[in-house]
Amino acid sequence: MNHKLVGMFIDKLESFTISDYYGLNSLGMTCYLNSVLQVFFMTDGFREAVNRCCCQDPTTIDLFLGRLFSGLQKNVAQTHDVTKRLGITDVYEQRDSAEYFEKILCLNSPEAAQMLKGELKHQNTCLTCQERNHSTGFFWILPLAVEELADQTCSVEKALRAFFKGEKACGDNKIYCKCCDSKQEAEIGCEIKQRPEVLTLLLKRFRFDDKQRCYTKLRCSVDVPHILHIESCKYVLYALLNHFGDLKGGHYTAHVKSYENKWWYHFNDDVVKRVDPPPSEPGAEGLRSCFAYLLMYQKC
Ligand SMILES: [Zn+2]
Repeated sequence: MNHKLVGMFIDKLESFTISDYYGLNSLGMTCYLNSVLQVFFMTDGFREAVNRCCCQDPTTIDLFLGRLFSGLQKNVAQTHDVTKRLGITDVYEQRDSAEYFEKILCLNSPEAAQMLKGELKHQNTCLTCQERNHSTGFFWILPLAVEELADQTCSVEKALRAFFKGEKACGDNKIYCKCCDSKQEAEIGCEIKQRPEVLTLLLKRFRFDDKQRCYTKLRCSVDVPHILHIESCKYVLYALLNHFGDLKGGHYTAHVKSYENKWWYHFNDDVVKRVDPPPSEPGAEGLRSCFAYLLMYQKC
């Protein structure tokens, strides 16, 4: 046996891209949409829910997603029916994937979108008369503030604590109090009333710069834990949407852990590659990323 030849053959085999999933072929710069469609396709239970619901109400986007998903199970798929349904006319314009993430969920049947839907309870307490006011509202995404810190790394856990921690509304931000019949200083805060099956977090990397009169991007690295504890609930990371470059000319891709075979994959438009070693796994310290933009956690 020619050992050198066998060695070369093994090297060649190992260098092949092994993938069990297909990419999305689309015109223009719709990577912001492709990465969202792939994370939905790879979300446990969502594909099935879309298939169950797509015949019930033809006005929802479920029918289009269902067709796309069944195409993706066999081959590289095209997105033009979905782009059309979403009203995207200029496929060369770069858009925000978080905006399209929410847009799709709003166009889904309530049953299909239910697993990604949570509810927040907002509370404010008037600091003059101590009267409390509540309101509730649903959410698809929790937006977390990130900051470029000179001496420490941002972390999702810290940003989440800051999100739920009460803050004082004063000055121009005073809140109208019914009892006092005037704007008063208040303590405002919120808590999760209903925890979603899939919790999606947004790292607010784009912010309006008053001096430059345009949106700028925060490129800081953020510590993303593999497991998140929210009250008594445990959430496990299974998908990350990454953003590279700047707002106008950037690129989106997605890292997703397959619920079918437990491998991580990198979805980059029409190219899908298995990722080894995985970007995040149980027991490890989590990952640090300056590209992570949307994070998705599955409830255990
Ligand atoms: Zn009051």
